[in-house]
Amino acid sequence: MNFLGLIISLVTAFFAPNASKESNVPQSPPNIILMIGDGMGHTHLSSALYYGKEEPNYVRFPFVGLSRTSSSSHKITDSAAGATAFSCGVKTYNGSIGMTADTLPHKTILDQLAEDGWKTGVIATSSVTHATPASFYAHVPMRKQEFEIAEQYFTASVDFMAGGGKRFFFHRLDERNLYPEFDRQGIIVDTTQLTDYDWQAGKRYAYLLAKDGMTPKYKGRGDFLPKATSLALDYFDKTAGDKPFFMMVEGSQIDWGGHANNGDYLVQEMLDFDQAIGVALDYAAQDGNTIVIVTADHECGGFSLVSEEVEVPFQGKQRDYDSLRFSFGSGGHSAAMVPVMAYGPGANLFSGIYQNNSIYAKMMTLAGY
Ligand SMILES: [Zn+2]
Repeated sequence: MNFLGLIISLVTAFFAPNASKESNVPQSPPNIILMIGDGMGHTHLSSALYYGKEEPNYVRFPFVGLSRTSSSSHKITDSAAGATAFSCGVKTYNGSIGMTADTLPHKTILDQLAEDGWKTGVIATSSVTHATPASFYAHVPMRKQEFEIAEQYFTASVDFMAGGGKRFFFHRLDERNLYPEFDRQGIIVDTTQLTDYDWQAGKRYAYLLAKDGMTPKYKGRGDFLPKATSLALDYFDKTAGDKPFFMMVEGSQIDWGGHANNGDYLVQEMLDFDQAIGVALDYAAQDGNTIVIVTADHECGGFSLVSEEVEVPFQGKQRDYDSLRFSFGSGGHSAAMVPVMAYGPGANLFSGIYQNNSIYAKMMTLAGY
């Protein structure tokens, strides 16, 4: 060992006791809560520091990494390929839902864990058939096939589902109404509100609360996302028994604020997503065997927070570094790496710089595969 090697080992040994507290892969698989801020780049995340009323919840994450987001077909991914990387562990083409680059259906982490008796949940502020949530339970070659995705929900194993998308189940172009399907399978479907049921272990629950995507936060969505997260956790607590659960929660519309180059829309969605993160972190802190992973599929909008230029008497234009304004470089996604943050048993696995589909592999390792 050379001198530098020796120093590195000494330093590593010195810090190891601190790191080891959370560094071991847990003996028994933890509950896994994967939270996806769609389109959430570093500046989106940072915006919560400056526009929230209090310190954001995400500052509580002890482990942080960076995810490389390119898909198999493009340098810049879309949400379908981005989510399929997380759900299936494969890099695939833009538009693919739960399918490989060769358009073969690939078992998702949710499919696999459900088979092994885990309870599962999917929550989104888009329609539940939109690219990100769909990639966890459906398999279609193109993300636009939302009517097929709705049909596949009935053969998938999503125990708790909440979001929009009524039109893909009840007001379909083919005029089929899938309501009897819910009935036939004994799924409690609620199209009015986030009702707090007396949960039954053998039942599945689906909340479909908007025709398409949920109302944007800045137009009055209220506390849907944190509340649905909290309800799902209560459902798992009462029904999962001694099995863990896997849940995906998406702040879907951070992305839509980015596409619209609408800073207020984006920031309100970001703050709302952070509220849901707070719910998950509180649960994990109390439970002790739950990991919370927060990441994004890609950045959207080329968003930045820049300084205002002000006219100073006799000095001309000057930058005021204490006054922020939103700036957008694009109406689409960008190629930037995105943050990954983790809390709980095995959270240290998420430190570092890696490909987006490694997130699947890390979760599967934690799940005991
Ligand atoms: Zn997008």
